[in-house]
Order: sequence, then C-alpha cells, then structure tokens
Amino acid sequence: MTDLTTMSAAELGRLIAAGEVSAVEVTQAHLDRIAAVDSAVHAFLYVDAEGALEQARAVDAARAAGQAPASPLAGVPVAVKDVIVTKGIPTTCASKILEGWRPPYDATIVERMRAAGLVMLGKTNMDEFAMGSSTEYSAFGPTYNPWDLSRIPGGSGGGSAAALAAREAPLAIGTDTGGSIRQPAAVTGTVGAKPTYGGVSRYGLVAFSSSLDQAGPCARTVLDAALLHEVIAGYDERDSTSIPQPVPPVVEAARRGAEGDLSGVRIGLVREFSPEGAEPGVVAALQTSVETLAKLGAEIVEVSCPHFSYALPAYYLIAPSECSSNLARFDGVRYGLRVGETPDSTLEEVMAATRDAGFGPEVKRRIILGTYALSAGYYDQFYGQAQKVRTLITRDFQAAFEQVDVLVSATTPFVAFPLGSRTADPYQMYLADLYTIPANLYGGPAISVPCGLSDGLPVGLQVMAPTMADDRMYRIAAALESTQEPLLSSQVPTLEGKTR
Ligand code: GLN
Repeated sequence: MTDLTTMSAAELGRLIAAGEVSAVEVTQAHLDRIAAVDSAVHAFLYVDAEGALEQARAVDAARAAGQAPASPLAGVPVAVKDVIVTKGIPTTCASKILEGWRPPYDATIVERMRAAGLVMLGKTNMDEFAMGSSTEYSAFGPTYNPWDLSRIPGGSGGGSAAALAAREAPLAIGTDTGGSIRQPAAVTGTVGAKPTYGGVSRYGLVAFSSSLDQAGPCARTVLDAALLHEVIAGYDERDSTSIPQPVPPVVEAARRGAEGDLSGVRIGLVREFSPEGAEPGVVAALQTSVETLAKLGAEIVEVSCPHFSYALPAYYLIAPSECSSNLARFDGVRYGLRVGETPDSTLEEVMAATRDAGFGPEVKRRIILGTYALSAGYYDQFYGQAQKVRTLITRDFQAAFEQVDVLVSATTPFVAFPLGSRTADPYQMYLADLYTIPANLYGGPAISVPCGLSDGLPVGLQVMAPTMADDRMYRIAAALESTQEPLLSSQVPTLEGKTR
C-alpha cells in the first residue's frame, strides 16, 4: 500500500470508513514519521502518542461495533498549534511563562474535533504568543522549513505548516491575527485558511489580539482544509464574538472549484499591492496564476484599495495595544512560572520578576509598544487613529466587493528566508505580513494556496472574500489547485536521518 503519510485527509477518512485501513495504522504511521524526521524539523513541542492511539482505537472500536463514522475525518490525525488549550496536555504558547501548564479544559474547536473522531497527535511550535513571522521567537527553539532546513517555515504557525510539509500530519490547526496561518502555508507549499472573524470559536484560544485572532484549518489540499473548516466552525455561545449563522458551504465550494470552471466569476487585483515590494519570482508566479484563473473563465479586474498601504502601521498599534491588555493575566499568580519569591518580596516584585524572566524580547516589545499607545495623552493619537484607519480599510474592502467577487494577491512578498536573516530588524520581519494584514483588520476570510515555485521554493496565492463568504475563496483556491502539480510529492527533500 502507498505510504499513509503521503495521502490526503479526505482519502484517509475514506479508507478508514471503508475498513481498508484502521485509524490505529494511520495514527501509527504518522507517529513513526514524527519519530523519524522531527529531530530535523522541530515542528512539535509535544507529541501525545498514547492519547492519539487511544483516540484512534476508539474510532476503530466504533466502526467494529457497526456505528457510522462521526465525520468524514474520523480517525484522521491532526496537529494543533500550541496556542490552543488542550485538557491535561501541556499548552505553552511557546513561552517560558507557561512552561509546564496543563489546562483544565479543551478549547471549543478541540472538543469539536474530538467529537468528529479526529486524532490529536500533539502540539506544534510557534512564535511566542503568536507574535512573529518565522517561528524563530519560540522560547523552545525554531522550526525548520522541510523544503530547506536552513530556512524559516513562516510564522507564527510555522510548526503546523512544517508538520504538513514534512508529512508528519495530514491536517493541522493554526491561528491568524495578521497572517499566521496564511504566511506559513505560503512558504511551505501548503494550504491555510483564515475563516471570517467570528466564524470559528475563540473559546480556548489564548488571546493575543482579541479583535483580530481567528483559528483556522491548515492542510495540504484545499478540500482537506474545507473538511476541517466544517468540523471546527459554527456558533459557540462561549465566544461573545461568535456569529450565530450557518457555516458557509465550504466543502461543496471546494468540490465545485475543483471542476475548474470559473466562468462568471469576477476577480479583483489590488492596485496598491504594487510589485515593487515583492521578489521577482513571487510577482512572476502571481502573474501566471492570474492568467490561469482567466483561462478558467474568470474575469480579472484591477481595483483600488487606497488605504491598504496604512494597514501595517495600523495593525502594529492595534495588535500590541490589545496584547498589552491580554497578556496582563500572566502575572505569576494564576498559571505557569513564578520567580523572585522571597520572605520579603512584595506581590508586585514577584510579578515583575516573573514577567521579566518569562517573556521573550518580542513579546516585551509588543507589551511596551501597546502600553505606550494606550497611555493617557497618546491614546487618540495612536490607538484612536489606528482604529479610524481600520474603518477606512473595511470600507475599501466593501467598495471592492461591489465590483468583484474576490480579491487575489501574492500571500507574501518573499519566499522562505534564511534563519536569522530578519531577526535583527523588527520591521523587516513585520513586512512578511504586508499582504495578509488587511483581511484581519476587515474581518473577512482569506486563504493561501500554492501557486508555483521561485528558485525551488514555494509561493502562495492569497484569495480574500467578503465576510461570511468563505465558500467563495475555497472555490477559487480549489480551481487554481486543480491546474497545479501537487507540490510536495517530489520536491521536498528526504528528511530521514537528517540533522540540522
Ligand atoms: N506576524 C504577525 C505578528 O507578528 C502576525 C501574527 C499572527 O497572525 N499571529 O503579529
């Protein structure tokens, strides 16, 4: 039989449901793969082999007892970004401050995946508290891009994306505040979708910037991402920003898109995302994909979104402001690390010492920036101004969606860069999210799908859609995918026995 780790989640689900392979075999194949390659890739912070096999056995037992599968993904393994809380399983957000913390409950999306029969393999590496674009800001060491181990896998969800590219998992969960699902997908040749804000419950997602954070599916195919999307999405009364509406029909849209007919679809190209800021290989891949979409019948229209150029500065005021407030809870009293306790120390001294020892430099930079932007006298000038820009960007999207059905762009201005090449200058790192941030400020869904190679490294195409029209982006992404050679089958180098 073909190696189970090369198959799509949809195929695995089908084989398990048909009894051609057991959930335990599928799970064991992925655990073996992790054992063989994760010392080179470091996608995982924690592997729950026993828990995974137990869940897989339960799926097999249910099938043996004649029960129908809980979902099309029953028995299929999934890796979960370590910013999502998992009952009894360490959840660190890749920070020293949470090292050793075992949450007393599961996030809503984890509950939903368990109920759907998915098998959780473990927790994936990330930038500390999801702040970063390369996974180099993990307190537990970086993740390495399976395409080239000297390069970054993107971030903050680099562990989830690398696990997919290295065939350690067929599915993963990411979170996206400014691009952390889409940008890692782009640079690892995988698929990542940020659903509409409010489309997927944030209950149990450790908050970075609450008005922007959104969890979503990561996979190697558009259909697999859509299948996982349908499992995790939908109203949750425990999240006050959850949208009480039916989940858009994303699986149906992905299947329809794969038929490769886009006649009648209007696709907008954002004029302000000018090619000057992007690498030539990225611009070329985008150009070719746009031509392909036109050949499939889509009408291509140039649209103007004049305020997109202010998205990055607005984001770097709003996100740090919310983070400075959200991260106040890590005080050495409630969870994780506590340092500096002596018979004479005051509570404030213990808190200060704990936060100083527990947070890394990027997290501290954000907290300081956010505290400043929110302080009396500066609030209107910084935070208030950024909120106004956010409104203008939302209006740009609304005006664009009166002319076109979706917007497309490159997902990132550059391909995977060498480790260490952007850590000295925060601004260079922030530029990785130039094209992904507008969708977060607006709240609409956006997906990254592989669209070619530049110098042998993957390039991603981003499709952005109106809020609650997640199905549209899946359709376009699946149509493009249907014209491409699968990226991973041949190009990713053998990782077994490799060290870094
Ligand atoms: N790279 C961006 C940041 O550092 C986005 C992070 C994210 O989406 N979690 O804030």
